[in-house]
Amino acid sequence: MQQEPISATRGNEAVAALRAALGADIVSLPAEFGGRRFADWSGTPSTDPIALIRPRTTEEVATALRICHQFRQPVVTQGGMTGHAGGACVLGGEVALSVERMNGVIDIDPVSATMTVFAGTPLQVVQEAADHAGFMFALDLGARGSCTIGGNIATNAGGNRVIRYGMMRDQVLDVEAVLADGSVIGGERKMIKNNTGYDLRNLLTGSEGTLAVITRAVLRLRAKPRAISTAWCGMPDYAAVTTLLGRAQERLPAGVSAFEVMWPSYCDFVRQRLPELRVPLASDHAYYVLLETCGADPERQSAAFEEFLADMLNAGVIADAAIAQSDADAAAFWAIRDAPAEYPRLIPGRISFDISFAVAQAGDAAQRCDERLRALAASDDPRLWASRRRQSARSGARTWLDRRGHRRRQARRL
Ligand SMILES: Cc1cc2nc3c(=O)[nH]c(=O)nc-3n(C[C@H](O)[C@H](O)[C@H](O)COP(=O)(O)OP(=O)(O)OC[C@H]3O[C@@H](n4cnc5c(N)ncnc54)[C@H](O)[C@@H]3O)c2cc1C
Repeated sequence: MQQEPISATRGNEAVAALRAALGADIVSLPAEFGGRRFADWSGTPSTDPIALIRPRTTEEVATALRICHQFRQPVVTQGGMTGHAGGACVLGGEVALSVERMNGVIDIDPVSATMTVFAGTPLQVVQEAADHAGFMFALDLGARGSCTIGGNIATNAGGNRVIRYGMMRDQVLDVEAVLADGSVIGGERKMIKNNTGYDLRNLLTGSEGTLAVITRAVLRLRAKPRAISTAWCGMPDYAAVTTLLGRAQERLPAGVSAFEVMWPSYCDFVRQRLPELRVPLASDHAYYVLLETCGADPERQSAAFEEFLADMLNAGVIADAAIAQSDADAAAFWAIRDAPAEYPRLIPGRISFDISFAVAQAGDAAQRCDERLRALAASDDPRLWASRRRQSARSGARTWLDRRGHRRRQARRL
């Protein structure tokens, strides 16, 4: 569908109406942005919006959207701007609505094990509040300090503990949101069992800002694990990786809370480019697995974990393993897994994908991608040539690569 061009006059009228209704403190104009960046982590080109709305309440969001709707003024919703898909970027002519001032915990209900928060609350604030209350908030990802709960819901974020607790969708019990015409939907229901009508919470989860502005959410809290055991395992082949997963799910008393598989090409890249990170095993293996289990009984769990790993070593499922002896060891293992947070610096102009395969197919799919990318890199394929030029231009480089990969001087094209 072709997008209707945004008329500057209509935009000016909308901004004037927004300023009149909400005031200059809430609706700021480009001259007042003060060098603020309107781009996320994807590297998608983004420009300044024609106005920035920073509401404090759901009513103010509703007023803003009602006015924009009246003037057919496009709006882009922004959370912590850590997204990797460009969904919060400004294409040109939009107003940006940031939920940054809708920030804070509204209520923690220890009996229902829920927390109600404003959408602009950073994930880390939610995690810390849950921990302080004797619970755990299960979503965790590298951008925890900056990303917001509204953004986590809008992107249906996954993170490190999906295998045990599910994605963001599984952490949300209810969502309050404002539709484009200013009407407010959803509420503050705290029930796990809720079969009343359409499931708007699930419709809004993963909607990437296209359906509504999420203003608050009721989150599900989990029992806080008292013991965490972590191991870094060297694996002989992909069949061993899936065997380890199945056996760990079967045998570890508290189940598997994280199972992160890493390929040697990834570990080599991290070793070379981030030498400050400590790689746990000196030996090389076909695959690496970061295995974690979270339970309630530290002594029982630790013994069961070690016994399990010893059995897997004896059975030849694992080739070698290191068990974290301290929180610092575990953090060092996780630092290797979380290294992609450095990709924007290490690989400028990259495009990131979030691709899912069934467990049984992932090894084969990754191997085929690897082979095809290597073949493409060794060839004169014009697709690679074009993407290298794009990458060079995006990163602002003054050189670009020709068909044979030779660097050529070239003024930056704007
Ligand atoms: C270092 C790092 C690690 C990451 N790791 C993971 C990971 O392990 N797993 C994973 O799934 N993702 C990961 N991400 C990406 C992740 O999806 C985002 O970090 C996060 O969920 C987006 O939240 P945000 O507040 O920054 O949203 P933004 O980037 O501001 O926005 C993202 C999208 O959500 C929309 N949106 C934001 N707020 C609202 C709202 N209140 N109402 C409606 N729509 C809204 C925006 O319009 C946009 O389309 C990572 C990102 C970084 C930088």
